[in-house]
Amino acid sequence: MRASSIWLAELRRVVLIVLVFFSVAWVLGQPLLGLLLVASGLLLRWLYQLWRIQEWLSQPETEPPEAQGIWGDIFDRIYHLRRKEKEARQQLQSTVDYLRDSFASMRDGTVMVDSKGVIQWSNEAADVLLGLRYPEDRGQAILNLVRVPEFHQYFLAADYSQSLQIVIGAEIERNLQVDVTRFGDGDRLIFARDITEVTRMENMRRDFVGNVSHELRTPLTVISGYLETILDNSEALDTRYIKPLQQMSQQSARMESLLKDLLWLSRIESVSHVEQHELIDIRVLLEEICDELSNSHPNRAIDLRVDSEDRIRGNYRELHSAVSNLMINAIKYSADDSRVALRWHREGSEHHLSVQDQGEGIAAVHLPRLTERFYRVDDSRSSATGGTGLGLAIVKHVAVAHNAHLLIDSVPGVGSRFSLVFK
Ligand code: ADP
Repeated sequence: MRASSIWLAELRRVVLIVLVFFSVAWVLGQPLLGLLLVASGLLLRWLYQLWRIQEWLSQPETEPPEAQGIWGDIFDRIYHLRRKEKEARQQLQSTVDYLRDSFASMRDGTVMVDSKGVIQWSNEAADVLLGLRYPEDRGQAILNLVRVPEFHQYFLAADYSQSLQIVIGAEIERNLQVDVTRFGDGDRLIFARDITEVTRMENMRRDFVGNVSHELRTPLTVISGYLETILDNSEALDTRYIKPLQQMSQQSARMESLLKDLLWLSRIESVSHVEQHELIDIRVLLEEICDELSNSHPNRAIDLRVDSEDRIRGNYRELHSAVSNLMINAIKYSADDSRVALRWHREGSEHHLSVQDQGEGIAAVHLPRLTERFYRVDDSRSSATGGTGLGLAIVKHVAVAHNAHLLIDSVPGVGSRFSLVFK
């Protein structure tokens, strides 16, 4: 029945009761008393129904009380609302359970913390990887339980754009990659992935490359030394051998610079970058590089501009090698009469160390892969210019070690700008 017709029926009933009582009371000569009695009766009945509602609502799982008319309708409606709310709650709960189950079964450690860093929930993997105990640790601050200084810094700095790598564990040491994401009202989700095996393999690869390069260096030095001596006395040689010997000498020089770069790369990779930072005077660094280049490339015009006297924390040798590599590339891949600009300046909270040339430029398709080892845009051109293919890999590594990134802008036929951007 519709709400309006239920109301009409209720009204009709009330009017009928009042009329009947009033008429009887009229006949008995007490109309006012009759009215008072009927009003009190109706009031008592409504109070009784209100009491029934209250009683019923205080018992969550019971059926609604039997009632006629408008009260029956009200009971029904409240009952349906309660049923719907219960169903919605069950559905929400099953979604939450489902999500929890899926997080719980993850091999990555997962911890939910609130805006104050207090643990709300964690899975089994987090117990193993981060040394937590759930549910005992619920309500504890994560920073009191994961006592790794780098994790504290990372968590409190609240810049989670990059992952954090930490070493954790007293008995079994593990390498973990930690990521944090925010959700809800300042709550955070912490993921910890065990990368011990990946790190071990990576260290093995790096050590292997480092050792091989080191071992190859001595025989190569002997070979090129002999070649040099022989070529120094070329007049005593059969002319047929001069060209091949010259080529051998060129190739061994190339191999030497390749081994030098490989050794340097594996050295940069293996150094722990936490303790090595000194304050660097960029002006001194750039002037030194320009001096060196004006000796090795006397005819090239280099514009040096130092627009900021700000110093940064870093490793002088590494920065020197990164900027030298960028400058040598700029010189290599541009015409002899074009200019190369080297600039240090500040942009907002960032510092830019940029090298700009007016050279051949690089097509956009190559940019994402440019810093891979041995990646070359044009193999024949790069080999001809004597490159090792490791220059930009070195630059990228130095950037990462200095918490900077390498920005490359290039337009084919117009030129390129490589910038080391320090935060
Ligand atoms: P390479 O020793 O071959 O120069 P790099 O790692 O230094 O190796 O550079 C990778 C490739 O990127 C180069 O082979 C070249 O094709 C391209 N490249 C680097 N710098 C420049 C530049 N300034 N202008 C044009 N191309 C460049």
